[in-house]
Amino acid sequence: MPEGDTAFQAAASIAAAFTGKPLAYSQFRVPRYATVDLSGRTVLASRSIGKHVVVDVGDDWAIHTHMKMEGVWRVHPLGTRWTKPAHTARLVLRTDTHEAVGFDLGVCEMLRHPDEALSYLGPDLLGPTWNPELAVANLRRDRDRPIGLALLDQRLMAGVGNVYRCEACFLRGVHPHTGAGDVDLPAMVDLCHRLLVANKGRVRTTTGHARSRRYWVYGRGGRPCMRCGTAIVRSFLGTPDTTEERVLYHCPHCQPEPARSSLPSGS
Ligand SMILES: [Zn+2]
Repeated sequence: MPEGDTAFQAAASIAAAFTGKPLAYSQFRVPRYATVDLSGRTVLASRSIGKHVVVDVGDDWAIHTHMKMEGVWRVHPLGTRWTKPAHTARLVLRTDTHEAVGFDLGVCEMLRHPDEALSYLGPDLLGPTWNPELAVANLRRDRDRPIGLALLDQRLMAGVGNVYRCEACFLRGVHPHTGAGDVDLPAMVDLCHRLLVANKGRVRTTTGHARSRRYWVYGRGGRPCMRCGTAIVRSFLGTPDTTEERVLYHCPHCQPEPARSSLPSGS
């Protein structure tokens, strides 16, 4: 699932091939922007803000994209064969030498003053002005909110998606239903930061292993916990609009349920 590290990598690969170069070609495969032509504009920067990718193209305008559940960016030398179906491409950018294609992007738009438009986001875990104290204060504001929901709220802290919320809760031994006020938030925030930093330049893993053992609990429902052998539980916690974001994985032994009084109602 695309999370802050994925956005960071996408923005970095676009930056490496496009920064300082004029666009020779652009095509939005989104009806609203079908007539937008960015050719001739110079790419000033490409950066991630939380799970968003922002490509600055001058005059305070930027291409703003979000990969949501399925999106992916591919950057390659011009003429490279696409590895995804052409009908899933939402945006094509080219210089004289390179091409960037955004497939299945959940958001693909032109945005004026992107930093203002995205200022609702909390501190960016991989941002140049990462502010852990502010992230902790934001997460602490609603003490009763389950930490498994608070970690996904990009207004509080930007960059964590479902994989990291499941993995961070496991690594801290915290049941995802635990109220945020009952969690060691500085330690939780620090862990999220370290996980994203460790993975920003590689294929994501939270265990240090590759392939099928990349994650402690995420995607491992019914399989034995790698620490204690108990079957990992798959359940749901989250807003109903994004099904995959609701899927929760935890180990009932390593992450004991919170005391009854701190259990959220209706979850
Ligand atoms: Zn366990």
